[in-house]
Amino acid sequence: MPAASTRSVLFVASECYPFIKTGGLADVVGALPLALDTAGCDTRILLPGFPAVLKAAKKSVEATGIPDLFGGDATLLEARSTTGLKLFILDAPHLFDLDGNPYQGPDGTDRADNHVRFAALSKVAAALATGMLTDWRADVVHAHDWQAGLTALYLQGAGENRPKTVFTIHNLAFQGLFPKSQLDVLDLPRDSFSEEGLEYWDKISFLKAGIVYSDHVTTVSPSYAAEIQSEDGGMGLGGLLRSRNNKLSGILNGIDTGIWDPATDKAIAAPFDRSRIGGKAKNKKALQKHFGLRESRHAPLFCVISRLTEQKGLDLLADVVPHIVGNGGQIVVLGSGDKDIEQAFLDAAEETPDQVGTFIGYNEELAHLVQAGADAIYIPSRFEPCGLTQLCAMRYGTLPIVARVGGLADTVVDANEAALQTGAGTGIVLSPASDDTLRAATDRTMRLFADGKLWRKLQRNAMKQDVSWTEPATRYVAVYDGLMA
Ligand code: ADP
Repeated sequence: MPAASTRSVLFVASECYPFIKTGGLADVVGALPLALDTAGCDTRILLPGFPAVLKAAKKSVEATGIPDLFGGDATLLEARSTTGLKLFILDAPHLFDLDGNPYQGPDGTDRADNHVRFAALSKVAAALATGMLTDWRADVVHAHDWQAGLTALYLQGAGENRPKTVFTIHNLAFQGLFPKSQLDVLDLPRDSFSEEGLEYWDKISFLKAGIVYSDHVTTVSPSYAAEIQSEDGGMGLGGLLRSRNNKLSGILNGIDTGIWDPATDKAIAAPFDRSRIGGKAKNKKALQKHFGLRESRHAPLFCVISRLTEQKGLDLLADVVPHIVGNGGQIVVLGSGDKDIEQAFLDAAEETPDQVGTFIGYNEELAHLVQAGADAIYIPSRFEPCGLTQLCAMRYGTLPIVARVGGLADTVVDANEAALQTGAGTGIVLSPASDDTLRAATDRTMRLFADGKLWRKLQRNAMKQDVSWTEPATRYVAVYDGLMA
């Protein structure tokens, strides 16, 4: 049992690094709980029992059986990760025994029964938080993204037992919309289907349920918190979020600085840090070799590590590759996503193989080498709730070239004249993302890179930034304490 003074927190999420990951959500859920525990919480995470999760948590023990959970029997398991995460795993083979992507079938489309799957996760979270196990309950339930969006609604009937609820929006674009005919299937109260409830244009919205029924809503950067209250950035929910402005906060993400540490990283070619920045050259060489690029210290080496989608502005970047190449630059692309964008980068690599390298797919280890070896990383997103790759990049002395949106605007300081004089610059900021601004930013980056002394100063400054979870964790704790007071 936790000490009386600790806050007992239940995270509810569909992804958690290193067990299952499709994006930044997994990184957050795999790292923030450890920082919260250091800051005085006792944090447990409820995850769906996808095969990869069950495999990784081999030493799990059965906590309790859950009969007849949306059409099948389930078991709640308890496990600990080697990194110290405390996990509850919902082992429900009829819902989660799926290969590959957790949300999409082999044809790349969303699975038709996702609403049942993630309603089950939320329902069990509500029961677990309110005493399903005799020796554990939660003071705060912290649900993440639409997959956990129904948790606070399922907690409505808990009366005195009801814990405080926090809902974090990691990306407003994914809303979890399903036909209203499924209301009874999901065991949801009829009166929740209203404009004041979870109804969104005659559909059930899991994300809206999270916003409406939770005591507090957070998102992953202050700028994104402002953007999602606007008509343009609100994606249909701007008015609702504006009306709840007093219970909405933007708290920046951090990264796991143990996993992303160039001084100890086993996945890179040579260790380095701020005082031994020269070690980065060996990584650049190794990266050029890996992708079959011409080995040169002097060619500026750009990179991308991302979902290859329009959100990330990578359709725009694909058009700018000839400009990069024409000016003597190199670029490596690690990612997957829209077929057109994948093809554009594959074509570029075929045309100029000694200057462009493309790997279509997901490769965690390679992501580390790319961060360590590249000089700069492009993140020209059209919108970006927080973004994690610019944080990893800064830690690895790789300067981010970012669009001035969301968390990118909050974490990267443009190396303009004034910032160069004060020493505040940590990257290159462009606005709005377009072919033209990307070309201009590329030219500016190349000019800065050509001045070796200045570039190293910028690198050191980027590497100095605190991108850890320490500060964000204290902000979450303040939210929890405010609710519990
Ligand atoms: P999003 O969650 O919108 O995809 P984030 O920047 O918040 O974007 O997080 C993306 C995470 O996924 C980062 O940890 C990044 O390093 C990782 N990532 C993205 N694409 C790949 C890839 N192809 N291979 C390895 N890691 C990737």
